[in-house]
Amino acid sequence: HRVISNNIKQEDIEIEGGLRPKSLDDYIGQEGVKERLNIYIKAAKQRKEALDHVLLYGPPGLGKTTLAHIIANEMNGNIRITSGPAIERPGDLAAILTNLSENDVFFVDEIHRLNRTVEEILYPAMEDYALDIIIGKGPSARSIRLDLPRFTLIGATTRAGLLTSPLRDRFGVISKLELYTTEELTYIVKRSASLLNVFIDEEGAMEIASRSRGTPRIANRLLKRVRDFAEVRANGRITKQVAVDALKLMEIDYLGLDHVDKKMITTIIDNFCGGPVGLDTLAASTGEEKNTIEDVYEPYLLQLGFINRTPRGRVVMEKAYRHFNIAYNKKD
Ligand code: ADP
Repeated sequence: HRVISNNIKQEDIEIEGGLRPKSLDDYIGQEGVKERLNIYIKAAKQRKEALDHVLLYGPPGLGKTTLAHIIANEMNGNIRITSGPAIERPGDLAAILTNLSENDVFFVDEIHRLNRTVEEILYPAMEDYALDIIIGKGPSARSIRLDLPRFTLIGATTRAGLLTSPLRDRFGVISKLELYTTEELTYIVKRSASLLNVFIDEEGAMEIASRSRGTPRIANRLLKRVRDFAEVRANGRITKQVAVDALKLMEIDYLGLDHVDKKMITTIIDNFCGGPVGLDTLAASTGEEKNTIEDVYEPYLLQLGFINRTPRGRVVMEKAYRHFNIAYNKKD
């Protein structure tokens, strides 16, 4: 199920580089987030200050990295990209911070996975643009403070609640990215198709968009696979029928659900009478990781109204029974 899960392969990295919008105007959707950022960026530029630190959260593939690139562009700075687990020691972080220039964007993906000692270095860096380093050992040890250039930290995570509160509190801007509408995704698919030099008609684009689970990364992946199909079976042109046939072959249903979604839903119905069932139990009985369920599968199933989250666990809703053709016995 690589099309849906968040494993990123080399192919994606190459293609994502090319398909990434470069300016806020090219960035489709997320209107509220965009409008607010636009104001903060303009204000910071007018005052000749760095943009305040930004935390972006939401499911994978919604455009957090893309937005960080765009912010760096708009601020006329460079972007330095890393991820929480990649920064192992305080020294690693110090090396990056001291190499930044004014207005640079320092992008930390999976920022909730920073370890504690590294995270503590980040506090004064964010608040005072300062780096405290300890020189020497034992009684003669002393701390010196280095000034850092005024940079903007952009942190990305799937859920804001995963961050410690001292870290979260140091972000001046906290924005949630939402799943995209089919119209927005249709636009993204058409834009990507033209960058990839492949013909697609409106209905073909809509077909791919409506099966992309509200996620641009998935839309771009589906487009590439449908393009393969079109080149081999249909002289390279993507129409609605070509998209339908290709997606059928990929076992992606008309809502964009795959066998993992189906397994999750049917497991809850068959083994737990439709729920509620806790996340741990669900993970154990489907063989999927808890994080993958919560960050990749659930947001879309929740949006579809196929499951509901209650304090006692996940419950399958009537709509899902209908979709999978399973008899629904209303509970009291
Ligand atoms: P995240 O960092 O949230 O996992 P990315 O920023 O890497 O997501 O986005 C994944 C891909 O989706 C990018 O290659 C980009 O081409 C596309 N994309 C994301 N958001 C948008 C958008 N708003 N408009 C157009 N394309 C987008």
